[in-house]
Amino acid sequence: LQKLFINNEWCKSSSGRKMAVLNPATGECICEVEEGNAEDVDKAVSCARRAFQLGSLWRRMDASDRGLLLNRLADLVERDRLLLATMESVNSGKLFLMAYFVDLMASIKTLRYYAGWADKIQGKTIPVDGEYFTFTRHEPVGVCGQIIPWNFPLMMLVWKIAPALCCGNTVVLKPAEQTPLTALHMAKLILEAGFPPGVVNVVPGYGPTAGHAIAHHMDIDKVAFTGSTEVGKLVQKAAGKSNLKRVTLELGGKNPNIVFADADLEHAVQEAHHGLFFNQGQCCLAGSRVFVEEPIYDEFVRLSVEKALKRVLGNPLLANVDQGPQIDRKQYDKILELIESGRREGARLECGGVPWGQKGLYIQPTVFSEVTDDMRIAKEEIFGPVQLILKFKSMEEVIQRANHSQYGLAAGVFTTDINKALTVSSAMQTGTVWVNCYNAVSVQAPFGGFKMSGSGRELGEYCLQDYTEVKTVTVKIPQKNS
Ligand code: NAP
Ligand code: MG
Repeated sequence: LQKLFINNEWCKSSSGRKMAVLNPATGECICEVEEGNAEDVDKAVSCARRAFQLGSLWRRMDASDRGLLLNRLADLVERDRLLLATMESVNSGKLFLMAYFVDLMASIKTLRYYAGWADKIQGKTIPVDGEYFTFTRHEPVGVCGQIIPWNFPLMMLVWKIAPALCCGNTVVLKPAEQTPLTALHMAKLILEAGFPPGVVNVVPGYGPTAGHAIAHHMDIDKVAFTGSTEVGKLVQKAAGKSNLKRVTLELGGKNPNIVFADADLEHAVQEAHHGLFFNQGQCCLAGSRVFVEEPIYDEFVRLSVEKALKRVLGNPLLANVDQGPQIDRKQYDKILELIESGRREGARLECGGVPWGQKGLYIQPTVFSEVTDDMRIAKEEIFGPVQLILKFKSMEEVIQRANHSQYGLAAGVFTTDINKALTVSSAMQTGTVWVNCYNAVSVQAPFGGFKMSGSGRELGEYCLQDYTEVKTVTVKIPQKNS
């Protein structure tokens, strides 16, 4: 289970190199896994290509049977969910209970949801000139390269493979360097479920080598990427430089969460708290710019700080713990550096702002008030447990400020006034708007970004468009001379 998974076989890396997998709560090495590079990606791509050839087992398979395989995989994930949630917690530092109840449940649901789509992806017949009969086929795109991050290792893998497979594509997936373990266990379950060889290949490795090879590959038809905007740009550029492969990107966010004075205050405080601190703040969706209307600003800050101070830090496997470690030293340093910049630029540090504990990469829950739009903390994605509370006076003003960002992933609005809710929802330049809730992601509904938060949509029916090509077939109907 510590090897590359190519063509339904476990193999060693061509370089003979391995990478250490760490537990971020302790800094200890859990194990080593084989480190794939460009040569290994090549091998995986040629197996995925073979599996995709016309006439292959996979291409000839009844569409319903593809759904059946995905359902079988869902059953196996359900069977192993205790193991998978434990692995996920130990390898990524996320809370075991969250892994078990959020990540695992969502992953199982996603597999079943796309299993249901497998035999319902159909084209149309199109009325054209009567001498012709025209129809469309929604065909799989081909070999899909999939590059995923470490914040939701298993869930991101499932968000990627489930729609790809239900449409009949084949996959070469690279997990994040920090978190290959659940991806490798999923490979084992894919084998057990009975997917034909080459349909799914998992190649752990580093971004600049294995990831770079996927992005630049001449025989990959599509890349789906989740991660930083910086690398998203590289992936899109690589597609342009190589074979114009299709690219879908799920990138960062600096998401506004707008709270009007008429909102249910306790509820808004709670949702804003969870909307930021969930998963140690390591979410592209994190509501990191909380805009609060002036009359309730001070009270909102007071209640938010109270909540932040109550968070229990510690071993993420324990049930009473609310917050685990950050993923790695690089992220940890970046978060502390941004906190420092906030202080320097004049934001008021209400609580936290410093590391916690004797070992592991813990940062105390941090709240800044008196934050202004020009500060770095208000512009850059922090990806850590740092909540920023900004003050606003009017709806027009807050709409303009909320949209003043290169990102456009999600937004929240809390109000009891339907007119405000609808005005703000239509004004937000974001792929998702939540009204009186936050982080309410559903597998049935599309998810993705405006602007530099990405392109394409994951989840829901909309995602199928990004994993299919539409082919128009026109047939000449011989006309009888009458
Ligand atoms: P990242 O570098 O963008 O990593 C995402 C994935 O891309 C990983 O699998 C990574 O491999 C791979 N990658 C890196 N360089 C690549 C390249 N040149 N070509 C192809 N693939 C490449 O993100 P990160 O370094 O882990 O985190 C940096 C920041 O990104 C975070 O602070 C956060 O702001 C943002 N981020 C966003 C999300 C999200 O959900 N949208 C998730 C994670 C991070 P390696 O694992 O080897 O780096
Ligand atoms: Mg990276």
